[in-house]
Amino acid sequence: MDQSDVAGDLANILLTEEEISAKLDELAAKIDADYAGQDLLLVGVLKGAVMAMADLARRLHHPVQMDWMAVSSYGSGTKSSGVVRILKDLDADLTGRNVLIVEDIIDSGLTLSWLVANLRSRGPASVEIATMLRKPDAAKVEVDVRYVGFDIPNEFVVGYGLDYAEKYRNLPFVGTLAPHVYS
Ligand code: 5GP
Ligand code: MG
Ligand code: MG
Repeated sequence: MDQSDVAGDLANILLTEEEISAKLDELAAKIDADYAGQDLLLVGVLKGAVMAMADLARRLHHPVQMDWMAVSSYGSGTKSSGVVRILKDLDADLTGRNVLIVEDIIDSGLTLSWLVANLRSRGPASVEIATMLRKPDAAKVEVDVRYVGFDIPNEFVVGYGLDYAEKYRNLPFVGTLAPHVYS
């Protein structure tokens, strides 16, 4: 899927495929160095993190395992409340494991802080976070994010895994939508 397939729907391209690719190379190199010689389990949060998880994992030289979790955050409209329900739990037992959560975006950070607490209660050796995108509000929450791709403005973005009404996830870049798409 590329720009011509969604012509007219996009207002602005925030991050190109090339910029995302270069950033993933950087993040993968850091993760390889930080976990050298250690066990590592990547936990992808469905569905938004699918692209980041696949592209990050294939850049790692480190032999990782990959598992997935789906959660739904109760909230009104586009704001999450921090009340979270597990839709699909991990298959892996986390006891003694080094866990790296892979996220698409952190906005309020409420979903993620719940997730970190939940995974920490399962007896892992460590729990860290990697996110492709982070919005300014995330700074208000007490979650330490070890790997951040891009700090972006407080705008609703789509692409590279992120949806609007389940659309645009397979765009290889990140952009904002034209106002007519919402109405
Ligand atoms: P938080 O709990 O950090 O507020 O919410 C995080 C979740 O909200 C993300 O995993 C994502 O599903 C959704 N979200 C937050 N900001 C955006 C955005 O700009 N675009 C899209 N498509 N989803 C977003
Ligand atoms: Mg997410
Ligand atoms: Mg969504």
